[in-house]
Amino acid sequence: MASGKEQEQQGFKQAKCVKVHGPIIVGAGPSGLAAAACLSQQGVPSLILEKSDCIASLWQQRTYDRLKLHLPKQFCELPLLGFPANFPKYPTKSQFISYMESYASHFNIHPKFNQAVRKAEYDRVKGIWRVQTEHLEYHSRWLIAATGENAEPLIPQIVGYGKFKGTILHTSEYNSGSKFKNQRVLVIGCGNSGMEVSLDLCRHNAIPHMVVRNTVHVLPREMFGMSTFGVAMALLKWLPLRLVDKLLLLVANLTLGNTDQLGLKRPKTGPIELKNVTGKTPVLDVGALSQIKSGKIKVMEGVKEITKNGSVKFVDGQEREFESIILATGYKSNVPTWLEVSIISMEFLDLVLSYYESSILFCLGHMHRGQTPTNPFFSPCKKE
Ligand SMILES: Cc1cc2nc3c(=O)[nH]c(=O)nc-3n(C[C@H](O)[C@H](O)[C@H](O)COP(=O)(O)OP(=O)(O)OC[C@H]3O[C@@H](n4cnc5c(N)ncnc54)[C@H](O)[C@@H]3O)c2cc1C
Repeated sequence: MASGKEQEQQGFKQAKCVKVHGPIIVGAGPSGLAAAACLSQQGVPSLILEKSDCIASLWQQRTYDRLKLHLPKQFCELPLLGFPANFPKYPTKSQFISYMESYASHFNIHPKFNQAVRKAEYDRVKGIWRVQTEHLEYHSRWLIAATGENAEPLIPQIVGYGKFKGTILHTSEYNSGSKFKNQRVLVIGCGNSGMEVSLDLCRHNAIPHMVVRNTVHVLPREMFGMSTFGVAMALLKWLPLRLVDKLLLLVANLTLGNTDQLGLKRPKTGPIELKNVTGKTPVLDVGALSQIKSGKIKVMEGVKEITKNGSVKFVDGQEREFESIILATGYKSNVPTWLEVSIISMEFLDLVLSYYESSILFCLGHMHRGQTPTNPFFSPCKKE
């Protein structure tokens, strides 16, 4: 009798095959849409396979209501069609989604939804990619992996996790603090999401406690009336990276004060250098810091365990009870689970544009840079 794996493989062999003229793009997020738009601009057809039932599913289905772009719109726009001029500097989540929808309709992009790619492998004999979904196998000479850095939630291992009696959810399932009114909520993680969720909880009269296990850079979102990100990018054109980092930290300390005293210890490496080296994004403060200063958001050290009676024990020995836990612990890519290439590694994916087997595999949106796909990356994809 065939094993589960063999049955699975036989199932794929029997799957209906669809020949795709032009590249297959996996993922209908901003990167996938940008890829399809740039290709169509050059007269190259493409097919997007998307596992969910809508475009930009991260934004539509897995982000909280109060979310606005962290960076000004000019740094987040897709190639060939920018944000509407009447949008604010930091568009809201719904404005961003409406931009994505008009972008897709402008370029006549119609992804195939509910098509989770389970496996993509290169057939060296035929010189094609075989891309398998539940019922179909798609064939193309080119493959573009655009499934993003936020494909799967990262769930930390916490001793006694199952003993917690309240609700535990990841930020990808968090919409608003309205459900948590008057609750003591533990937010695990202090990146942009952890800070914003804690702020949102404050605004809905919950009692957030935020776990800060590691060091973190908090920067003001704006400096001298300009976005901090824009200031940094401008300075980097003229000054060495470490000097730019020093200047950013000088202004941050002057405007925000010493964050170390609030339990938010700064890393030794500067914010831009750290981002470049590890991908760790600095927190751009949108109001959480003043709530920490006023004591409305309580900063806690790392979680040691959930005890047998369901309370949370911290590494400094404190023990407290909470009604809910929100995991602001980030995301991971799912590419290694479906893309079968012998040289796969995250370093490999860290190339915005990768050539594999003579220019047929392209990876987009894996550079810890948010939305950076741009038109010239697609120039190798010429119409046949
Ligand atoms: C809370 C939050 C705020 C952010 N704010 C900003 C910001 O202000 N500016 C910025 O530049 N970036 C921001 N980002 C980063 C974010 O990664 C980008 O905004 C953008 O969504 C990246 O686009 P993407 O297309 O690469 O990935 P995604 O948007 O994640 O899209 C990937 C798509 O691939 C699909 N997919 C995944 N696996 C499969 C599969 N196996 N088969 C088929 N389809 C699949 C997913 O369903 C998804 O639709 C933020 C992220 C988060 C979580």
